[in-house]
Amino acid sequence: MSAVSSSSPVVDPKGAYRDELIAAGLLISTGVDGIYGRSARFEQVVDALQDSITRMTTPDKPELMRFPPLLSRKDFLDSGYLKGFPHLAGTVHCFCGNEADHRRLLECVEEGKDWSDMQEAAEVVVTPAACYPIYPIVARRGPLPAEGLLVDVSSYCFRHEPSIDPCRMQMFRMRENVRIGTAEQVLAFREDWLKRGFAWVEKLELPVAIDLANDPFFGRAGKLMAVGQIDQQLKFEMLVPVTSEENPTACVSCNYHITHFSEIWPLRDQNGEMAHTSCVAFGIERITLALFRHHGFDIDSWPAGVRAELWP
Ligand SMILES: [Zn+2]
Repeated sequence: MSAVSSSSPVVDPKGAYRDELIAAGLLISTGVDGIYGRSARFEQVVDALQDSITRMTTPDKPELMRFPPLLSRKDFLDSGYLKGFPHLAGTVHCFCGNEADHRRLLECVEEGKDWSDMQEAAEVVVTPAACYPIYPIVARRGPLPAEGLLVDVSSYCFRHEPSIDPCRMQMFRMRENVRIGTAEQVLAFREDWLKRGFAWVEKLELPVAIDLANDPFFGRAGKLMAVGQIDQQLKFEMLVPVTSEENPTACVSCNYHITHFSEIWPLRDQNGEMAHTSCVAFGIERITLALFRHHGFDIDSWPAGVRAELWP
């Protein structure tokens, strides 16, 4: 992109790329930052990425699980998500009143007054990460088999962080493979995916760098948690510049949770030891946006190698 001269208005490159995507008909504006419709051309790439990940992971024989983008409120509270990320959570609230309450509700709406106190928390919240629903479900099955477990999961996820950066959507698809087992099994999985994930992004001919990362924990206590996460090398991200060279976008992440989830839910290996867990997560929209950024909006003119990987 060319430098902005001193006489031009300052244009935020993140907002500029979003406007380009909307003008080109790839994303559809809803009027809310971070919530977009997707066009056929955008979904063509999304489907191809999902298929490419499926081809890559099928030899590992994962157990496939799919959930709607909702999580039981009990599991959500148990997970501790509200401790770390209260600012990102999306809860679901519903009207449960009688006819008089309904009249009051409509009056409030009519008068532009707050009507949210007539809503009650539902038994579900919006899924914050694709792997969250599986831990309590696997724990309920009892001890893991000797070989542990590998799960393929994918979902729309919600994070309340409205932004003009199209790479920071409020709802987006996350595809994950999750390993649950002994420390050795889980660390081997993580090591393997650091290489495989990187090689896969390189096959898409995207400029990628790998770096240690931390989750966006809330508040002052959160800063300490973030430092601990970096010190223990629990999270690696595969970064591709999309809307910024200085702040490249995390397109794939490899996360090691140690025994965080087996301290909450009784995930146990065959010997009754606390299971370790790790996940590799693919940000489907982010990878799609990186492809459009680096190879152009015309899919037919993408490099032959990229097309061969996506549409073999
Ligand atoms: Zn995960």
